[in-house]
Amino acid sequence: MTRAEVLAWLREEDPARLKKLWGRADRLRRRCVGDAVHRRGLIEISNHCVRACCYCGLRVANSKLPRYRMSDDEIMAAVKQAVGFGYGTVVLQAGEDPGLRKDRITGLVRRIKSETPLAVTLSLGEREPEEFCAWREAGADRYLLRFETSDPELFAKIHPSLPDKRSDRMALLKVLGCLGYEVGSGVMVGIPGQTFGSLAHDLLAFQTMELDMIGVGPFLPHPGTPLGSGWMPRALRAGAQVPATAEMTCKAIALARLLCPVANIPSTTALATIEPEQGREMGLRRGANVVMPNLTPVRYRAAYEIYPNKACISENADACHGCLDRRIRALGRWPGTGPGGRKRVASKS
Ligand code: SAM
Ligand code: SF4
Repeated sequence: MTRAEVLAWLREEDPARLKKLWGRADRLRRRCVGDAVHRRGLIEISNHCVRACCYCGLRVANSKLPRYRMSDDEIMAAVKQAVGFGYGTVVLQAGEDPGLRKDRITGLVRRIKSETPLAVTLSLGEREPEEFCAWREAGADRYLLRFETSDPELFAKIHPSLPDKRSDRMALLKVLGCLGYEVGSGVMVGIPGQTFGSLAHDLLAFQTMELDMIGVGPFLPHPGTPLGSGWMPRALRAGAQVPATAEMTCKAIALARLLCPVANIPSTTALATIEPEQGREMGLRRGANVVMPNLTPVRYRAAYEIYPNKACISENADACHGCLDRRIRALGRWPGTGPGGRKRVASKS
């Protein structure tokens, strides 16, 4: 697909034409990754963060947020719930928290791999290559790190650097791939300052990077952050700003499927937040094949407030599990079993 075609779809507003896009993405999803919906149990292990990303409620400057870090026992209890529910993967996610020391994560990964059949995905921000290496050696299978936007000027504006460290997520994603991780990345749709051209570039970058997992969700403004309180990283002419809507997010999901047919693509919690009734289903019908049920203990959930009014915030793991199961089956699909890793495309001989 050319850049012009991607751009034309992003700007398309005719419902009949969009129906064709949804249909193409859904058929390709079925052909390439099947009807099973893989469940990745999400455990938000710490909300401490040293970064100041201009969109995220966990940013260091948000002094109103009560901070927590789960104990190993709490994390292992949530991991055991994932096993009980029949999930194939757990995702350990956190702010960029140096308090989560390399050796502690190494030990946790070893424990999960030796005590359960689960695949382990880490999403702990921009960590050091030697940390990625140690965790991979301990058995971690996948790493998620969204590049958020492929526009370097916009990226720099919304990701203030740490004094001693320049952010280069693209370089880190390459390191992760070289270490043998399945690599996941993605972007937010509708971040202030995002143009249609830059979103088209992001989508084409997914294809060039041959990502194993692609997460796209709408930007949701958090009032305690610069981007949620009206600050604009750059002025765009009228009509150039990508809207942070459910429909635009679905266009990005469908195009990601067309560009990366075998990738694992979640229908995200952010989409379910912006469209509480049917958001999950919209994503799953328009190219997605993964959901991420939340296993974080209820007492910590409200404090993992990356944006306000997050879906499922007061539900416990049982309720999340049951709700997603029903939604998957109502679509005529079924929960996937096993780790649900990336399907490799056979190389031509
Ligand atoms: N700290 C790790 C990192 O940055 O990769 C993982 C946790 S971070 C909270 C996970 C993702 O949340 C980010 O990659 C970002 O895309 C998303 N996120 C943060 N703030 C958001 C917002 N206001 N609206 C939508 N998504 C947001
Ligand atoms: Fe921290 Fe990740 Fe939020 Fe940035 S997006 S402030 S690194 S939790």
